[in-house]
Amino acid sequence: MEREYMEYDVVIVGAGPAGLSAACRLRQLNPETTVCVVEKGSEVGAHILSGAVFEPTALNELFPDWKEKGAPLHTPVEGDDIYVLTSQEKGIKVPNLFVPKTMHNEGNYIISLGNLCRWLAEQAEALGVEIFPGFAAAEIVYHDDGSVKGIATGDMGIGLNGEQKDSYMQGMELHGKYTLFSEGCRGSLGKQLIEKFDLAAGKDPQHYGIGIKEIWKVSDEQHQQGLVVHSAGWPLDESKSAGGAFVYHLEDNQVALGLITDLSYSNPHLSPFDEFQRFKHHPVVKQYIEGGERIAYGARALAKGGLQSQPRMSFAGGLLIGDDAGTMNFAKIKGNHTAMKSGMIAAEVVTAALGKEQAGTDLTEYATAYENSWAYKELHVQRNFGPAQHKWGNIIGSAFAFIDINIFNGNLPFTLKDPKPDHAQMKPASECKKIDYPKPDGKLSFDKPSSVFLSNTNHEEDQPCHLKLSDDTIPLAKNLPLYDEPAQRYCPAGVYEVLENEAGEKVFQINGQNCVHCKTCDIKDPAQNITWVTPEGTGGPNYPNM
Ligand SMILES: Cc1cc2nc3c(=O)[nH]c(=O)nc-3n(C[C@H](O)[C@H](O)[C@H](O)COP(=O)(O)OP(=O)(O)OC[C@H]3O[C@@H](n4cnc5c(N)ncnc54)[C@H](O)[C@@H]3O)c2cc1C
Ligand code: SF4
Repeated sequence: MEREYMEYDVVIVGAGPAGLSAACRLRQLNPETTVCVVEKGSEVGAHILSGAVFEPTALNELFPDWKEKGAPLHTPVEGDDIYVLTSQEKGIKVPNLFVPKTMHNEGNYIISLGNLCRWLAEQAEALGVEIFPGFAAAEIVYHDDGSVKGIATGDMGIGLNGEQKDSYMQGMELHGKYTLFSEGCRGSLGKQLIEKFDLAAGKDPQHYGIGIKEIWKVSDEQHQQGLVVHSAGWPLDESKSAGGAFVYHLEDNQVALGLITDLSYSNPHLSPFDEFQRFKHHPVVKQYIEGGERIAYGARALAKGGLQSQPRMSFAGGLLIGDDAGTMNFAKIKGNHTAMKSGMIAAEVVTAALGKEQAGTDLTEYATAYENSWAYKELHVQRNFGPAQHKWGNIIGSAFAFIDINIFNGNLPFTLKDPKPDHAQMKPASECKKIDYPKPDGKLSFDKPSSVFLSNTNHEEDQPCHLKLSDDTIPLAKNLPLYDEPAQRYCPAGVYEVLENEAGEKVFQINGQNCVHCKTCDIKDPAQNITWVTPEGTGGPNYPNM
């Protein structure tokens, strides 16, 4: 049966900072341009998770009057501490002088990105953009000549075995003269586009981290509104893994804290979730949250390969923007301002093309416009930060970054490469030390089920599983003997379990309804056997202010 369709000048997939900035800019530039945004979360912001220390550069350009318009930037950064945690009890505060300048946060704000996206969506709607929350773009629709025609939203009301239920509603096609894909890190459609149009040719593979985050409500004595704390070292250094942590003091006595584990880790016994739980027991961290109440939990992967890993962003009929293309600046642990800027540039390039009555072309001029922007320039200056961390570890890598960025301003005449994909880094379990994680104490540390509960995650249970195995024998036949099936540990929501049935046989169980859409399984499975596809729209977490 032919699907119904609607036509727009521009279709945008994903209401994050990249997609919403593109939408606003399109209508600012030409109020006649018809623009729609589809968002898989139940509302804008429901699937958004970031730190977030926010650099307002792109927002200043998009809405110079954002203060008058009431943008939710309430907490200017007042203090910036960096620690190297040397053991589970000890840490050294790094003198400001030795901190890479990318880590300085004067002029930035501590925000909830979810709330900023809700505000951006209001601005977009006021400008005439149509936003459809609760609709996942499940499929790319192509013209006969292979150019992108738009997307199709997923069918609703399909039962576990593919049968149509009473509630069945066929998905709809949204056609655009141009389609902008802004799904964030490891977008499911972005992944298909990169493959189909060979957009990553000649590039390093993308590199990733998994960020696990909580928000706590703490006492007045513990709270220092505006304080930003970053750390490296313990606990990840015990397993020779890399990553870093953050503790941000927001308004309303809230503290947002998280641990980012680089997905290049090699020990399959590692559990990013449990590393984060023990991180909270470190005295540097515990002082801010002990006795407080944990009010939110979530997880999301981030793309940190930088320019060396950025795919070509244009193809016939569309553009990849924001973290779908990996625009995050890992040296700053910030991607919101660069995602916004990439969206704004997309709007400018698309508006010019529409003005010439073009449709469906490959907007190769995007590359030049992007390369001339401040977003590209800062990514270029900081291009060696990530590969240096991978090559030499957090401490020596940071020392190199200090020299490269603070002294040479990114002008050293070489670009470091990082050619091994994260999933290929895993070593056999038999060669790695088992990690004995302490039991959660229920005060500072918690288990996965109670954590997932706080993410308000919900999926219609009677629907096909959205975690697709290319070969369903691999988890038990290959991953279990070789890597002790690491999905049991890298998934921050306990979706993958190896259980025993009554006959004493091992069974690989997927609890898809718990999935918080972090995309780690799609990235880290050593056999690359798991593909994350969109579940029914509205499914997934319902984050309040992540
Ligand atoms: C733990 C953590 C801490 C971070 N800290 C900071 C920080 O302090 N400062 C900073 O600037 N940056 C930070 N970042 C990075 C920053 O959050 C990202 O760079 C930024 O969110 C990228 O924006 P985006 O618009 O490209 O994608 P996203 O913010 O990921 O938004 C994508 C949107 O698209 C939707 N979507 C995805 N696929 C589909 C689909 N198929 N159909 C419909 N909708 C879809 C998603 O639900 C989501 O709403 C952090 C990231 C993490 C994970
Ligand atoms: S199933 Fe995959 S995407 Fe979902 S929470 Fe687990 S690791 Fe993340």
